[in-house]
Amino acid sequence: MNSDSVAMTDLNGAKNKPEKVCIFGTGDFGRSLGLCLLQSGYSVVYGSRSPKNSLLLPKGSKVMSHAAAACEAHVIFVAVQREHYGFLSSLASDLEGKVLVDVSNNLRRGLYPESNAEYLSRLVPGATIVKAFNTISAWALQSGGLDANRQVLICGDRADAKQQVTDIAQSLGFTALDRGSLRAAAELEDLPLQLFPLWRLPLNIAICLTAFIFFYVLTRDVIYERVTSGKDIAFRIMISLANKAFPIVSLVMLSLCYLPGALAGFLQLYNGTKYRRFPDWLDRWMLCRKQLGLVALAFGFLHVLYTLVIPIRYFVRYKYNAYVISLVKDNKTYEFDNTAAWRIDSYYSMGILGFGLFVLLGITSLPSVSNSLNWREFRFVQSNLGYITLLLCTAHTVLYGWNKFLNPKSYRWWMPPAYMLSLVVPCVVLILKLILITPCVDRKVTRIRQGWERQGKTSANGSDTKITQQLMA
Ligand code: NAP
Repeated sequence: MNSDSVAMTDLNGAKNKPEKVCIFGTGDFGRSLGLCLLQSGYSVVYGSRSPKNSLLLPKGSKVMSHAAAACEAHVIFVAVQREHYGFLSSLASDLEGKVLVDVSNNLRRGLYPESNAEYLSRLVPGATIVKAFNTISAWALQSGGLDANRQVLICGDRADAKQQVTDIAQSLGFTALDRGSLRAAAELEDLPLQLFPLWRLPLNIAICLTAFIFFYVLTRDVIYERVTSGKDIAFRIMISLANKAFPIVSLVMLSLCYLPGALAGFLQLYNGTKYRRFPDWLDRWMLCRKQLGLVALAFGFLHVLYTLVIPIRYFVRYKYNAYVISLVKDNKTYEFDNTAAWRIDSYYSMGILGFGLFVLLGITSLPSVSNSLNWREFRFVQSNLGYITLLLCTAHTVLYGWNKFLNPKSYRWWMPPAYMLSLVVPCVVLILKLILITPCVDRKVTRIRQGWERQGKTSANGSDTKITQQLMA
């Protein structure tokens, strides 16, 4: 924030811009907010329990008792923890008719029966309470335009009071979003407590899947070898086993991005309408498809990196050299196998193409890119190219295994090779999609998605429209 922004704000004519703003509390948030306000042209007065202690406060601000400070301004930011709100009730007469901005957050959800803002409005009934700025950190306030989080969420019961806080937020360089009445305060207070809500399911799936596949290949490859022939090949854990687990997790998670869409299509066919709610689990699953895809891409990257080091591995070089020496010793020739050449080249080619498209999908899911695409373009990339990616990656895996599944030796302790497990979900998804795009089924699904309903099927409730939009995304 600088003098330019002040001038711009003035030119834009931010209405009701108060000359003076009061802040109760001289802690981290109060100081950062005060500095921003001063830089944006406001004068700032602090209400504090110890008005003499003003060393850390921004230059140009004044500090006085709470009662005296309250008389100086119409808008008062309460930058005090909720536990200490008690002192405000004794100031009720000074706060009469003022706008109190509640910026507080809690340490965890459900700590109090009512939101902090509603509690404040009970303590000071004569004031108008506006909840705002609680999703902005003290650091973000100071970091100016560098920080991505520039949105101030606002709620309150009086439009004029909300407008005054909106003007202040805009003067500070934030965009303001009205979230409704003070009843929305509890929701706003929960927002900073959320920890990657949409990432939780994909990450849990990735962890469980990785652990399962890793122990599966550990048993099949390392423990089996140790038990049956006494050979210790545990060193393979570091690269070989990791490079078996990562592509499997990547492929399964990529197919899990597309499975809910296919299931939703069948559900709509079964229901004969798009206006019936999907089950909650399917709804939640569809909401986190982007995160599922990005986690899958991360595992795909790991697979690529691990594959690139294969030629320089000591074990691989040793095995290759030993093989060549044995051929020389036995005076044998290394016959060229045309089928193997085709298979291996196709295997790599499918992998490279699949990974290339996978990266493209990842890039188009970035908000800056997806925002520049229209609905049709986004759908084309995420749906059509997405299925092609899944097809290529599945083909890559099939070519890797080739006819190994026919060889009884590849079943150890009745356990099939891990690549076979990884093919189950992608094949199911591709078959479901194949059914959905057959002309007769596709025609029916398209009609349903355009609003057609089978006779006797009526809408369950309005929220289904939202779900359908997610399905189409
Ligand atoms: P803080 O550093 O602990 O400061 C709180 C201030 O409240 C103190 O400096 C003190 O100011 C005053 N205070 C403390 N005990 C008091 C009492 N018994 N009676 C009256 N006043 C008392 O906290 P903060 O980080 O600035 O946070 C302040 C509020 O902003 C909290 O509700 C927090 O949830 C919210 N918030 C903070 C951030 C952040 O990044 N820090 C972000 C969003 C929201 P005086 O000594 O001058 O009286």
